[in-house]
Amino acid sequence: MRRKLVVGNWKMNGSLASNASLLAGIAEGLNGTGADSAVCAPAPYLAQCQAALQGSKLAWGAQDVSAQAGGAYTGEVSAAMLGDFACRFVIVGHSERRAYHAESSELVAKKAVAALDAGLTPIVCVGETLAEREAEQTFVVVRNQLGAVLALVGERLNKIVVAYEPVWAIGTGKTATPEMAQEVHARLRAQMAEHNAIVAGGVQILYGGSMKPENARELMAQPDIDGGLIGGAALKAADFLAIIHAGSSN
Ligand code: PEP
Repeated sequence: MRRKLVVGNWKMNGSLASNASLLAGIAEGLNGTGADSAVCAPAPYLAQCQAALQGSKLAWGAQDVSAQAGGAYTGEVSAAMLGDFACRFVIVGHSERRAYHAESSELVAKKAVAALDAGLTPIVCVGETLAEREAEQTFVVVRNQLGAVLALVGERLNKIVVAYEPVWAIGTGKTATPEMAQEVHARLRAQMAEHNAIVAGGVQILYGGSMKPENARELMAQPDIDGGLIGGAALKAADFLAIIHAGSSN
């Protein structure tokens, strides 16, 4: 049985003051939850997360990582640096990184490996654009995106988390129906089983794309939806907690 995992992606939002009240509000409401939870904060706030959350049930992580271990890469942050702030997770291949920073699936795979090498859990994002869905290319697109990662992570498949995030559903208020999302999740799991049939059943596959308190329970009730990657709704403690509690009851 896979545990549910709910991860907030703050994107480029927050301030020291607003983070402090958000983190306190979430941590306070976590008692009694059966789902695991984490927030992925902008890099400058990781020290704040570490100080505020150490010893709490809420884990923390980053939104991106360099594929390089260190050296002359101005502006980049290495996985070891994230480890210094006790990050458990790092998101790799978010569609905004793929779109605005031209990240290829090969680069995303290298980032996932860099995270694993430093003992972090990469949350590997895959997902199709609206044009790709309309052209019936969804399964081809996500298969290629995940395939690049599987090729590099090898036997460490059991140490990654996958997130299916249809690009057309991110920040738009449009959500994939539970059936649409489940169909893709099942395909992703089958692809992982081709790679390693023993561990594929244990890999958590999160859904992301306008998940909110109103639709979280139904989405997470699907057999292959093991939690959520949450953008907008992760910025309000009450909404984020409601999603975590929805995951606990599935
Ligand atoms: C995301 O950015 O990963 C995301 C799912 O955003 P939202 O929940 O706002 O659609």
